[in-house]
Amino acid sequence: MYLPNKSRYNVMTYNRCGRSGILLPAVSLGLWHNFGGVDSFENSRAMIHRAFDLGITHFDLANNYGPPYGSAEETFGQILKHDLSAHRDELIISTKAGWDMWPGPYGNFGSRKYLIASLDQSLRRMGLDYVDIFYHHRPDPDTPLEETMGALDTILCSGKALYVGISSYPHDLTHNAEQILRRLGTHCLIHQPSYSMFNRWIEDGLLAVLREDGIGCIAFSPLAQGLLTDRYLDGIPSDSRAGRPTGFLRPQHVTPEKIAKVRRLNELAKERGQKLAQLAITWVLRHKEVTSALIGASSVSQVEDAVQALGAPGLADDELKRIDGILAKS
Ligand code: NDP
Repeated sequence: MYLPNKSRYNVMTYNRCGRSGILLPAVSLGLWHNFGGVDSFENSRAMIHRAFDLGITHFDLANNYGPPYGSAEETFGQILKHDLSAHRDELIISTKAGWDMWPGPYGNFGSRKYLIASLDQSLRRMGLDYVDIFYHHRPDPDTPLEETMGALDTILCSGKALYVGISSYPHDLTHNAEQILRRLGTHCLIHQPSYSMFNRWIEDGLLAVLREDGIGCIAFSPLAQGLLTDRYLDGIPSDSRAGRPTGFLRPQHVTPEKIAKVRRLNELAKERGQKLAQLAITWVLRHKEVTSALIGASSVSQVEDAVQALGAPGLADDELKRIDGILAKS
């Protein structure tokens, strides 16, 4: 029987999510990889236990996390039921819809029909009455923004989500979405963009909109799916994300140019007494707009590494310049 660590709230830093009442852990755990029906249930369970023991209160899912689609929500639902049901009110559980989920014209993108049906399916898979945050997963160029935001508002009013958010929206569309939600009497709690040393698009306008509109920010793939770690310094291990047959990080993404930068960043991390994965987390959290770093993990020790990053000193100006120099090299 799992009994959570009694001192779990002494370890973690909690940051306010934009202008809201919600505090999120500075490190949150995503279930995109390693929690599917094809993965070891006991490993998934051990990672969730360790995360909760370290004060990670936020777990991020989506309708199609697996493989197969839906199975990460089922795995999480099982763990919740057996081990964490007494702690539901200590958890922030999110899910999303917006990418492909089921066949036909109603299982993808941003229609009201898709979002509402998808959340009902997610709740059934997780055995929940409500999620804490429901996201539209990506912008849909063909559905009016009013329809998608209206669906999020309906979901809030139905009580099936306590807060809503958006993911991967560019800065202008983010502001428009927030305006529509405001007119409907609500607020966009949070934006979930990709952000890492290898992917800095949010610095070009989005962070400013989030600050001005009081929207929180949870940065996904802060380790660039594992590239910004020591995982690939000596080739591609067969049990790594790039080494496994499924997933979006493919061997061709592990280029000699990237690894040359990773080596130099790894040296800097060592000088700071950190692992590179930890430096990458310290780096995304340096903006006050970034509420949480949304990591993935394939083992308990990776979850531990991430939380340990929070004890490190902030990055000095000369260190930030050195990082910019390393990243700028072609
Ligand atoms: P990361 O960039 O944190 O990559 C995680 C991977 O990095 C792990 O699975 C592991 O890979 C490797 N890793 C982690 N820690 C270490 C360590 N200490 N040392 C060495 N390697 C390490 O994030 P993800 O890409 O997994 O994304 C995180 C979450 O973000 C997802 O679960 C999901 O919730 C969310 N997300 C949202 C998206 C959206 O569109 N909104 C899109 C993508 C993700 P390995 O398997 O090789 O060990």
